[in-house]
Amino acid sequence: MTTPQTEPATAAKSAFQEKVFSGVQPTGNLHLGNYLGAITKFVTLQDRYDCIYCVVDLHAITVWQEPDELTKAIREVTAAFIACGIDPKKHIVYNQSQVSEHAELAWVFNCVARLGWMNRMTQFKEKAGKDRENVSLGLYAYPSLMAADILVYRATHVPVGEDQKQHVELARDIAQKFNNDYAASIAARGFGDAFFPLPEPLIQGPATRVMSLRDGAKKMSKSDPSDQSRINLTDDADAIALKIRRAKTDPEPLPSEEKGLEARPEADNLVGIYAACADISKADVLKQFGGAQFSAFKPALADLLVAKLSPITAEMRRLNADHAYIDQVLADGSQRARVLAGETMRAVKDIVGFVRS
Ligand code: ATP
Ligand code: MG
Repeated sequence: MTTPQTEPATAAKSAFQEKVFSGVQPTGNLHLGNYLGAITKFVTLQDRYDCIYCVVDLHAITVWQEPDELTKAIREVTAAFIACGIDPKKHIVYNQSQVSEHAELAWVFNCVARLGWMNRMTQFKEKAGKDRENVSLGLYAYPSLMAADILVYRATHVPVGEDQKQHVELARDIAQKFNNDYAASIAARGFGDAFFPLPEPLIQGPATRVMSLRDGAKKMSKSDPSDQSRINLTDDADAIALKIRRAKTDPEPLPSEEKGLEARPEADNLVGIYAACADISKADVLKQFGGAQFSAFKPALADLLVAKLSPITAEMRRLNADHAYIDQVLADGSQRARVLAGETMRAVKDIVGFVRS
């Protein structure tokens, strides 16, 4: 369970085996925000950690999904993971509903988390909007299931976009409360002074919150009704160029320094996208384009995006046509995930005091 530590300074933090978990909902077309904010990070982390990447279909049904569309989207997200460079042999790729321990642990966490904590979640407020009485109970409980997703593997690191920071922090609170509430039972069963790690969100780089192309105050989202608001990973070169050309901006030329992007959310967003795609800092983008009009910057950005995304789009299309392969990846990943999750769940049942056979 524990790994030997060579650096005493990090011993407390890493008494748990370091492990990465993250998920993406099959709720529609994957977009540039998912790619830059999450999936590119998933790919990089594969070299340093054991990673578990999940297509979170249980989360998807917190809002209504057409069954045939959901099936399609689960396969599409899986194809996107692989096309972006996730290796499903070295790491684990699967869909959440095939590992029932997620839902099982979520129930235990529903009994650990406090209503007051859930009431502070901004995603629920945004997604429920004015229709709060009429949204699903699942949408409200979403962060508790997300805590279970991470902690059923006792994962220590969670790469996510900025919008999910609050949920990972809630997962830490739930882990901490479980460890406290059951401290005596955890110790008595030989798990030391903490059963769950406190998972850390990994949120870095210039594109942790990619904004809508139509509104610099709103994040780019799968569920935004306007397709013009986002670059989908399935968009072709013409669609990308058109969406960037039409992207909302202001009339000023680009500033030469980052400070000049303050209070210019649309400009800041496009510069951030350029920086993330070119793997340079925003300051470096502005060194190159400071003083330029959007009429010059936008075509350069569109070219960069097309160069970056078109090989991925082509590979996604190829993989997506091969259902047998995708379903096999999910079956194999689920089977390996179940072994890990089963072990945690059996320990949790013992700690809580359930009788099991
Ligand atoms: P939905 O609107 O259905 O919630 P979504 O676009 O928010 O869809 P998710 O599946 O909820 O996508 O999120 C998958 C990952 O992508 C998460 O880590 C999330 O933080 C990240 N992400 C989503 N949108 C953005 C964005 N605009 N910028 C950066 N990261 C993002
Ligand atoms: Mg989301």
